[in-house]
Amino acid sequence: MTVAAVIVAGGSGLRAGGEKPKQYQLIGGRPVIWWTCRAFLGHPAVDHVQAVIGEGHDAMFAEAVKGLDLPLPVIGGSTRQESCRIGVGAVGRHRPDKILIHDAARPFVSADLIGSVIAWLDRFPAVVPGMAVAETLKFAPGGMVSRTVDRSSIWTAQTPQGFAYDQIRAAYDKAEAERTQGLTDDASVAEHAGLAISMIPGRQENRKLTTAEDIEIANRDMTARTLQNLPDIRVGQGIDIHPFEDGDAVTLCGVAIPYSQRLKGHSDADAAMHALTDAILGTIGEGDIGTHFPPSDPQWKGAASRVFLEKAMQLLAAKGGLIANADITILAEAPKIAPHVAAMKAFLAPLLHVEPSRIAIKATTMEKLGAIGRKEGIMAYATVTVRLP
Ligand code: MG
Repeated sequence: MTVAAVIVAGGSGLRAGGEKPKQYQLIGGRPVIWWTCRAFLGHPAVDHVQAVIGEGHDAMFAEAVKGLDLPLPVIGGSTRQESCRIGVGAVGRHRPDKILIHDAARPFVSADLIGSVIAWLDRFPAVVPGMAVAETLKFAPGGMVSRTVDRSSIWTAQTPQGFAYDQIRAAYDKAEAERTQGLTDDASVAEHAGLAISMIPGRQENRKLTTAEDIEIANRDMTARTLQNLPDIRVGQGIDIHPFEDGDAVTLCGVAIPYSQRLKGHSDADAAMHALTDAILGTIGEGDIGTHFPPSDPQWKGAASRVFLEKAMQLLAAKGGLIANADITILAEAPKIAPHVAAMKAFLAPLLHVEPSRIAIKATTMEKLGAIGRKEGIMAYATVTVRLP
């Protein structure tokens, strides 16, 4: 028995907003499509996983699924139906008995649901998971209710939809030969070909991410779920200090604070972000900023310190780690830090892939004691907790 899975990721996903299509946006520190592909790759009953992507998305896809053992994607067509037909054809080389077709934008698909669809395919040539409709349905053309629809037999369709391979392939060929367009899911193609389709219970959690709000909620849920599965808890610390020199602003945690001086250093001298970066590197034993960005290298002169932080986050992600929290203390006699804390958290949160509530930024003066107390510079401490698999 050979089972192939096709992950359909052709859409441009513009409804979700953001710079990238929704399937490439990050939830729980990884792109949506990474989670979706991994769910199928990690399933013991699935033998082959094939992604179908949009034209021009090759580089974005390669970056998104780095580290996963996937074949090169195939490029989809202008409609979902066309993309699926291409995906179904592409896995033909494996001579699968069963095929699952799944939306890339449903990253919460469970192993249990994948297993159910595969099992039901022993009894039916087509299997669709779905949810019975709980709310009352109104038929309201033009926004005016004309009647209430009997919902007792109404289901919403999810994916993965499963099919006997030869039959769905023939169904796609038939739709293609007849030039039938506008079939919005694979079951519609199967229906069009007259296959017997069994509806089985889907899962509430297996929702499709469509809007920016969906992505935001999914980010929260996936982060919480992932943290539970990361038992290796590490703590790292970082300390940094930079002296003042003449200038007009100091940069701390990425935020420029107007002041009569600036911090002197090779990069933008963001002592707080340097301490934070060293703390992250400390959790995974990867040296410090100087190890990765030697001060002797002129290319980092005046560099924005987010480059250092992003490098540390990449090293952490490569180990499968996530930030649990970051606690930063800034020691400064002046300028005043407190009015800028919210902006600092907003700057750091997306870089750390956490909610702002997992970041603390505190400031204290030194009561005029020592070098910091004499306003000779600013010092920062950071403590970071990360969780690794
Ligand atoms: Mg520094």
